[in-house]
Amino acid sequence: MTEGEGPRCALHFDAPSLAPCQRCGRFCCQTCLVEREPPLCSACAPSVVDPYGIHARAFELVPAFVAAFKLVLAELPNLLALVVIFALPSAALQVALVGTGDDLKTVSTSIRIGTFYEFFVGLVGAQAMLALFIARSQGRRLSLGAALNEGVQNWRRAAGARFRAGLTIFAFALLLVLPAFWKMTMLMFSSIAVLRSHDRDALDASEQLVRGRFGLCFGFALAAIGVCYVPMFIGLTIIGVLSEALTLPRFPMEFVTDVVDRFSQDVAMASLLYVAYVMLHRTAGIELAPMRWHRVPPLSGE
Ligand SMILES: [Zn+2]
Ligand SMILES: [Zn+2]
Repeated sequence: MTEGEGPRCALHFDAPSLAPCQRCGRFCCQTCLVEREPPLCSACAPSVVDPYGIHARAFELVPAFVAAFKLVLAELPNLLALVVIFALPSAALQVALVGTGDDLKTVSTSIRIGTFYEFFVGLVGAQAMLALFIARSQGRRLSLGAALNEGVQNWRRAAGARFRAGLTIFAFALLLVLPAFWKMTMLMFSSIAVLRSHDRDALDASEQLVRGRFGLCFGFALAAIGVCYVPMFIGLTIIGVLSEALTLPRFPMEFVTDVVDRFSQDVAMASLLYVAYVMLHRTAGIELAPMRWHRVPPLSGE
């Protein structure tokens, strides 16, 4: 060892230090430096790049629900902004193109317009919200614009996966109801994998995760549906009754309905699916490749 060779690792005295840890200041060698930008040591990295601890633990129902709730709470302003941005055109389309009434023709027109909008526009919003969850869970700060960019850039992959998943489930539904439910459960994570796991086909990624853990995933799905959709159903029923009793103007009613709907699906359900998706990788012993950002958001560096 000669003098003046520059700083040495605080733990491995024979190894040169590449950089001091940004958080604790300890000089780190190649082995100790877990993160490069910003430099973080092996002791500090976990709390910075996995602040909710979802990457470090196997799947368990209650911790998954708690982590999802914390993620939603932390990103609430951005999430609400996205819900409103994507609900406004949707409500406007319904008012402009669909007549009033409960007859079959009106309802089917409404559903067709809704499906069309979700496929070409709503999907971008859903992916943007998912990008916010992914960034936050990795200690990164993603702006609203950057989240929308991730959603737009990933639209083709997301639309392709949704189309194939829909077609597959429909084909199974032609057989019987039960096979369709089985297939829906197998594909329940494809909307998450489509953004989170660019190294694999999204449908395959979901099936790989659920296979051998069907009971666990199905139980989780039932609990998540209970938490996300039962309150939505009650809320929408109350809104429906009120709007008929008070003959409220149509646009605000459509808007509020869409906001509630989008919040249950793209915020509550998506956050739960995302957290379960990450934790189940640890349970299954399947490697979760790093997120492939279109533009890497900076670490919050706390
Ligand atoms: Zn450190
Ligand atoms: Zn070292």
